[in-house]
Amino acid sequence: MKRLGRAEFDRLLNALTEVGYELIGPVMRDGAILYDSIAGVRDLPVGWTDAQEAGQYRIQRRDDQALFGYVVGPHSWKRFLFPPNQTVFSARRTDDGFVLETPPVDGVRRALIGVRACELEAIRIQDRVFLEGPYLDTAYQQRRAMLFVVAVNCGQAGGTCFCASMKTGPKAHGGYDLALTEVLDADEHYFTVDAGSPAGKEVLDRLDLPEASGAECDAAAAAVARAESQMGRSLDTDGLKPLLDRVLDGRHWEAVGQRCLSCANCTLVCPTCFCSTVEDITELDGGARRERRWDSCFDGEFSYVAGGSIRQSTASRYRQWLTHKLSSWHDQFGSSGCVGCGRCITWCPVGIDITQEAAALRVADAAEHDG
Ligand code: SF4
Ligand code: SF4
Repeated sequence: MKRLGRAEFDRLLNALTEVGYELIGPVMRDGAILYDSIAGVRDLPVGWTDAQEAGQYRIQRRDDQALFGYVVGPHSWKRFLFPPNQTVFSARRTDDGFVLETPPVDGVRRALIGVRACELEAIRIQDRVFLEGPYLDTAYQQRRAMLFVVAVNCGQAGGTCFCASMKTGPKAHGGYDLALTEVLDADEHYFTVDAGSPAGKEVLDRLDLPEASGAECDAAAAAVARAESQMGRSLDTDGLKPLLDRVLDGRHWEAVGQRCLSCANCTLVCPTCFCSTVEDITELDGGARRERRWDSCFDGEFSYVAGGSIRQSTASRYRQWLTHKLSSWHDQFGSSGCVGCGRCITWCPVGIDITQEAAALRVADAAEHDG
């Protein structure tokens, strides 16, 4: 384990730039912490944090100068691997017909700075969806192959996080090139740094950092343990899959359906949701293109087949979303579709909380069996 002083953080970012990566990291914009291009530490939300609760998000000043003193915002890293809009192909008229062209992937090597443990797990889940299923998404594959991941272990829990109960955080276990833990105490501000890949080791070697002391490693471990102990929510997954498989009907879905606005926020902020639709667009010059864009199972048109939409009620759409996340995702991909990041709770305008809904289903099911 190496030690990187706060004052040297730009050296790490510069080293990544020198080896050819575009840096993407947290930035403060539009009243939230989002992910976008950064040039150095000055672009990070230094000294800011986020206060989150169901249906609430606020950025606030911290009383220190932490670089990563917040958790996750409305963006997730999926927008860089699976962009919200992408052109699948375009068609152009020629004298003897038309030609189809597939746009190349941009070829940008990106270093993601500040990826949390839950987000690493979300990337692993999307890897299974896009790379390990029967159909390979070659654009995702190319973007993924060019990625360098700098993980940051969480030193504080957000108001809606529940990664500990999903066993996805707050400490990163693999899947990164470098993993940092930020330590701030009265006198010192530094990071412990661990390489998780040959590419990460190469960057660490360029920096020629000193070893972290035993006390510094202990302080980093204590910061992560503090985040875990702060976590106010949990999702009890024990026996949840069979429970969801048998409560396909029931008053509970109607009750949540009356609160849910079918706005799709939860699916758009979720780092694992992967549904998309395609749209054909014709141009005035006779050209055309097919666009692929994020879609949501909360959209009334999403389940449209000849004759109409299968899931016409909001209750049926919420049931589809929750049962897919926590039950049928296991059948499809061998894991839960939820990593416990809490985004869907924070960004739901009416504060619907997946942990509470799962708990309520458990109570309703127990009552039915007792009765
Ligand atoms: S379902 Fe909610 S808590 Fe789970 S990964 Fe998606 S946004 Fe995060
Ligand atoms: S659960 Fe909340 S965020 Fe999701 S569609 Fe319903 S109202 Fe929107």
